[in-house]
Amino acid sequence: MKNPTWHRDEIILALDLYFRMDSSKMTSSHPDIIELSELLNRLPIHDVRPDEVKFRNPNGVNLKLNNFKAFDPSYTGAGMQNYGRLDKKVFEEFESDTKRLHKIANRIREVSSDLDLANKLYLIREIEDEEKFEVKEGAVIYKLHKYRERNTKIIKKKKETEFQRMGKLPCEACMFDFYQKYGSLGYKYIECHHRTPLSEFSSTTRTSLDDLALVCSNCHRMLHRKVDELSVEGLRSILSA
Ligand SMILES: [Zn+2]
Ligand SMILES: [Zn+2]
Repeated sequence: MKNPTWHRDEIILALDLYFRMDSSKMTSSHPDIIELSELLNRLPIHDVRPDEVKFRNPNGVNLKLNNFKAFDPSYTGAGMQNYGRLDKKVFEEFESDTKRLHKIANRIREVSSDLDLANKLYLIREIEDEEKFEVKEGAVIYKLHKYRERNTKIIKKKKETEFQRMGKLPCEACMFDFYQKYGSLGYKYIECHHRTPLSEFSSTTRTSLDDLALVCSNCHRMLHRKVDELSVEGLRSILSA
């Protein structure tokens, strides 16, 4: 009955607190540690928690923070030697850019504090695709992106508007047209991709029609493989190269 190992998003939140805390004050009764424990319990990532009571409890959170000492060059005391590979990787990714770490952590925190939204994000599978790829801005924000671009009301509106304007719905990146290829089966079929970069995504992001791009399923997959950096225009120029 072991709880799932720590996800990158969880490590980001822990590391952000680690850099903000006095290392001599890291104990399981510290209010900031307790607050982080509560936050991790709301985070829409692990829905399977074999040991619900112990799941990210203050003891475990405190241990996690103290584990960072093992590879923190600025820590002079004796460090724990019991850390995970991902802990070290995330530490190395952010040790010289704690500002970016704090920005990402705050965004994850903000999304997770909206309980209604967090509950909806639980239902979005982080990686439904056949292969795993890393989202630098965090899985919670990626889930929010997916959730926003599945808003059926605005997607319908977007498709209707574009169909009225053009009389067809071609992919904005490769021009593929489902109706042309599949006949009536593909009539008015196309997917929607949210253009807002993940680094600017937040729980208050409201989707306008201009935020959405119409793309075919292949191009949508490709965009998501580099969802942190690739724009629809960027993909279009890859295709025309
Ligand atoms: Zn396409
Ligand atoms: Zn998308």
